[in-house]
Amino acid sequence: MAPGTEPAPGTEPAAGTDTADSGPVPKGAADARGPVGPDGRLLLAADASPDQARALVTEWVEANVPAAWRAAAAGGRAAIRKARSRADYERWYPVFGVSGLVAARWAPEFGGLGLSADAAKAADEVLRPYNLGRLNPLGLANAAAALFAHGTEEQKRRFLPPIVRNEEVWCQLFSEPGAGSDLASLSTRAVREGDNWILTGQKVWTTWGFLADYGVVLARTDPDVPKRNGLTYFLLDMRQPGVEVRSLRHITGEVDFCEVFLDEAVVPDGQRLGAVGDGWRVGNSTLSGERQMVSGSGSGGVDRIGGSGALHLVKLAKDVTAAGRPGGWAEPTVRQEIAKLYSEERIRGWTNERIRARLAAGLAPGPESSIGKVHQGDLNQRTQALAADLLGAHGAAWESELLPGTEHLGADGAPLDPAEVYADSLPHEVRGMLRSRANTIEGGTSEVNKNILAERVLGLPREPDPHRGKPWKDVPRS
Ligand SMILES: Cc1cc2nc3c(=O)[nH]c(=O)nc-3n(C[C@H](O)[C@H](O)[C@H](O)COP(=O)(O)OP(=O)(O)OC[C@H]3O[C@@H](n4cnc5c(N)ncnc54)[C@H](O)[C@@H]3O)c2cc1C
Repeated sequence: MAPGTEPAPGTEPAAGTDTADSGPVPKGAADARGPVGPDGRLLLAADASPDQARALVTEWVEANVPAAWRAAAAGGRAAIRKARSRADYERWYPVFGVSGLVAARWAPEFGGLGLSADAAKAADEVLRPYNLGRLNPLGLANAAAALFAHGTEEQKRRFLPPIVRNEEVWCQLFSEPGAGSDLASLSTRAVREGDNWILTGQKVWTTWGFLADYGVVLARTDPDVPKRNGLTYFLLDMRQPGVEVRSLRHITGEVDFCEVFLDEAVVPDGQRLGAVGDGWRVGNSTLSGERQMVSGSGSGGVDRIGGSGALHLVKLAKDVTAAGRPGGWAEPTVRQEIAKLYSEERIRGWTNERIRARLAAGLAPGPESSIGKVHQGDLNQRTQALAADLLGAHGAAWESELLPGTEHLGADGAPLDPAEVYADSLPHEVRGMLRSRANTIEGGTSEVNKNILAERVLGLPREPDPHRGKPWKDVPRS
């Protein structure tokens, strides 16, 4: 549930049932070079030391990351963005996908390398300058969290490797028009028919629903018990006749999320995750994975949703002063504000390290992911607001080729959607500022996460609920 991160695509057809261990050689293996096996996976043993990981990943980068991107890395993210288009990156991604480096801590049979936390960190440090964003973050964070916690061995082997390789893109179908913060009150029904479940209802805010091959779904299987007890968690094939996806456009002009209408969509019982009626517990693994992703501590490979970090503010502020405009680096209050945001960013990073260490030790994430979610949402909004401020008048009016009556044509000669042309014209900082507004809503609002912290960390009394314990069907709904 994180539109605006490294966009998910990879709209190749579903990979069927091949796993990391068997079946056809995965896409990307043939193009992989350097210290890799015939399947393209890095030849790094699970017990490799951080030094061994560093050395082999450096070799892998030399052999596999295109020379122009490596050269651009010295100039930072902006230079990399210039050297490589989104399409270039997607074309190259299968090589990364098969390497095991996308989720280096995951076991090899699930698409990773099984590395220790320290070795995986060393590998990531080598990769970091090249800005190799992980595609499919909702698969890597949201779906995978539930698969690891509640999936059968068969389900994990079937679904995790194509998530890592971005061969099957995932979305999350939880929220409904009448159930967002109060997710457990959702109405989508799942009725058992033989070996299948038949799902009917409406979901909303489904990020990347229009690209997805699969979705994780919470549906009501028993309306006669209290709301949290009657839910079941399913893995839904999005490419079937009973699934209609309608795109929604957001404030930056882009289409990221959708409404999804389920009209007797079919899910085989083998794609039920966890027990019937245990969906709330299974769903919480996904929500926790999502909170970690939004706070920057999870496996989704996302460190910020919208815009760039505090070091970008330093550059912007210096540019303002160099251009002789007021309100830049020359002003102590601006430097002070940037230093404050930078310090908070570092603290955020260290707290995220603690969460990762907890997870690496096999412990549940704990309340840090709610703290991180609340802090990161607010921090990113303040960071992006300052970035847009530093643009001065350019933040409100910018050069654009979008003029009334002008038609823009794509590479294939077909007219482009004016909203997409507008979206492309937005300065990076304005886009970041607008996108960051959602950071305190997506993945659970800040208010709701503060409730979680109040109840579970501070031990404050629970929110009053006059309908607690009543069967779902007897609770009034709008
Ligand atoms: C960018 C974005 C992407 C998303 N992607 C997905 C996705 O992929 N899949 C998915 O399932 N959902 C997705 N969502 C939905 C998201 O999870 C919900 O928007 C969120 O949980 C809030 O629900 P709501 O919008 O229905 O707001 P409501 O629940 O109606 O809340 C409205 C307001 O009331 C406040 N409020 C509600 N209850 C309480 C309470 N008990 N105490 C204090 N304040 C309260 C809220 O904080 C909020 O300010 C996405 C949302 C956004 C913005």
